[in-house]
Amino acid sequence: MSSLTQSRQPGWPGTTSLVLDEPLLWEKAKPGRVGASLPESDVPPAPLEEGLTRSDLRLPDLGELDVVRHYTRLSTWNFGVDTGSYPLGSCTMKYNPKLNEKLAALPGFAGAHPLLPTELSQGALRVLYETEQMLCAVTGLEACCLQPSAGAHGELTGIMLIQAWHRAQGNRRTKMLIPDTAHGTNPASSALCGYTAVKVPSGPDGILTVEAVAELMDDDCAGIMVTNPNTLGLFESNFKAIAELVHARGGLVYGDGANLNAVMGYAHMGRIGVDVMHMNLHKTFSTPHGGGGPGSGPICVSRTLVPFLPGPRLVERNGILEWDASAAPQSIGRLHPFWGQFGVILRAWAYMHTLGADLKRASELAVLNANYVKARLRDVFDLPFPQASLHECVFTDKKQEDFNVSTMDVAKRLIDCGFHPPTIYFPLVVHGAIMIEPTESESLEELDAFIEAMRSIAELAETNPSVLHDAPVRTKVRRVDEVTAARKPVLTGDM
Ligand SMILES: *Cc1c(COP(=O)(O)O)cnc(C)c1O
Repeated sequence: MSSLTQSRQPGWPGTTSLVLDEPLLWEKAKPGRVGASLPESDVPPAPLEEGLTRSDLRLPDLGELDVVRHYTRLSTWNFGVDTGSYPLGSCTMKYNPKLNEKLAALPGFAGAHPLLPTELSQGALRVLYETEQMLCAVTGLEACCLQPSAGAHGELTGIMLIQAWHRAQGNRRTKMLIPDTAHGTNPASSALCGYTAVKVPSGPDGILTVEAVAELMDDDCAGIMVTNPNTLGLFESNFKAIAELVHARGGLVYGDGANLNAVMGYAHMGRIGVDVMHMNLHKTFSTPHGGGGPGSGPICVSRTLVPFLPGPRLVERNGILEWDASAAPQSIGRLHPFWGQFGVILRAWAYMHTLGADLKRASELAVLNANYVKARLRDVFDLPFPQASLHECVFTDKKQEDFNVSTMDVAKRLIDCGFHPPTIYFPLVVHGAIMIEPTESESLEELDAFIEAMRSIAELAETNPSVLHDAPVRTKVRRVDEVTAARKPVLTGDM
């Protein structure tokens, strides 16, 4: 079928609507069609050397306009924070002010070359330096390193620091304590450093207890990784006592700061015993993310770990910023070429400068919004941890199970209602989890519309569950086979 007949409906002139159907590029291709016209060559063709041509890589034959329309049409089906509400728990899909984009696009920043002499890059270096200082102020920690490219990379850096500190003491510890509510990157980062992850069960109210940690923390444990607030949206209120216990038994404390959006200006991470933590600039400090775009996961450390930080470090001498060339014998070395993810760091710098002390207000509103959603849905969805939470709340499908309706059905129906589904089936400790993080950017009207959609879904579960089983119906594709898509991706036109 050609692309045009595919997008036509029988008995309907033209195409189906302005939301155009779009076949695969392989289906649009016409043998011999090309995307570029070059003038006729005035030299005789020379055959490529043996081995330089590939016959295994097939590409569809397409004109330039075919390709432009294809991707432009696909882009109109995309859903982003700029399209609508995106309450994906633990991901902090907040609005990213366009001012940040504008600054990142300024030629002096976008075109800056990291090999320029420092006297010609004082402005860009000032952005880095101030960002380090602001992040230290937000976390209450001693020093910052902007090199890591994502939260997971920050975790790896932090665990390497903890390992370097242990080695410097002559310790050879082999285990890392990780709560059962942790993000999967926590055990992965520990494993990359050779540690065996030891699961710490959370207490009945969703937070860690000192007793559970005391039971497992021995002199073979290098430390503990704790997400605070945790992935249930709860503040780990025993954090300080746990940190003291871990320190007393010779370990260090990693703080996963992915949920910092809930506590900016409220939690002093240094004072509660964090030795190293990462922040996700792309979550908390407003860089568009999702879909694999660039991120940035700086770490902040306590005084204990400063000597081990990756280098070189940025220092200010007589008002001039430069990279410190002096030897740092205990440094774990570089983890990123040049300056880190400069564009993302710059957006975070702009965001923090714009809000200033109002960062605290952003956290307050993020918490208020999550608790509003929670209060307005708790009578229709099961709420396993009913106490006040911070920036996100976790429901389950327990009440809908009786009608054979699952969390997946709820999520798919939300798409039909025009909302990006929340995070589902995570954290793993909650069966059928629906984890909602509205963020501070959503207005009362948006929250109410989301709540109304969720309440209508709860009602449909009782009155007409087949509507939920069929969802989504208003999308280009219906339910996709996610397992097969992940396990057996089709990357060429051969099906
Ligand atoms: C997002 C997240 C991470 C990982 O961060 P990335 O930037 O995606 O690598 C780690 N821990 C928690 C709790 C997170 O939400």
